[in-house]
Amino acid sequence: MRKKIVAGNWKMNTSIQEGVELAKAVAAGAAGTPENVGLIVAAPFTHLASVAEVLKGSKVELSAQNCADHEKGAYTGEVSVGMLVSAGCSWTILGHSERRQYYGETDEKLVVKTRLALEAGLGVILCVGENLEQREEGKHFEVVTSQIENVLFNFTAEEMSKIVVAYEPVWAIGTGKTASAEQAEEIHACIRKVLAGKFGEEVAQDTTILYGGSCKPSNAKELFAQEDIDGGLIGGAALKADDFLAIACSY
Ligand code: PEP
Repeated sequence: MRKKIVAGNWKMNTSIQEGVELAKAVAAGAAGTPENVGLIVAAPFTHLASVAEVLKGSKVELSAQNCADHEKGAYTGEVSVGMLVSAGCSWTILGHSERRQYYGETDEKLVVKTRLALEAGLGVILCVGENLEQREEGKHFEVVTSQIENVLFNFTAEEMSKIVVAYEPVWAIGTGKTASAEQAEEIHACIRKVLAGKFGEEVAQDTTILYGGSCKPSNAKELFAQEDIDGGLIGGAALKADDFLAIACSY
């Protein structure tokens, strides 16, 4: 049975002190969320070690939002997977559309980063999704399929057990426009089919596929009720502990 996960992406928000308070509230409320739903918070790099302390003993796991594409060395300003592990992370998000769009993150780079993360023992939440133009041109299946093929087809079935896919239509991120449950489900089913074609039905059925894009307490239930939607990657609503926990309780 694949795992259900609700993950919060704080992006570049909160001071360390605010982040610690947010993490405390999430950790305190986590016990009241369904046992079969895993919780993850992806905090900014500067917050990780402090947030890790707060999350100790709770079921909430810690994620980074990115990692360097080199193991170590003269790469000023970068943060390595080893540093993330030493700060207490067990996950990293990779390939978020904001990184693809603003920081030139390519599928090729994501293969390198995913490999480094897995080798360091981190789980990876790999984001994929089409932009508005691609959706309007009817290319959404094609775009998402090629992102999955370009990155994940470089890994083994065994490595897939440490990878979660997040489908995030770019036009729905931070815009208040949620993909309808049907729109999300048809892409999730497509992703699972593409994974089955490469890795076999068992791996595809075991892979957690999250939906992200203006997910909130009022729409999470309908989205999560879809057969191939296994939880959410939450941006804006993850900055309020009550909303984040309410989303997790939508199962
Ligand atoms: C995100 O950026 O991962 C996201 C889903 O953002 P929001 O929930 O704010 O649309």
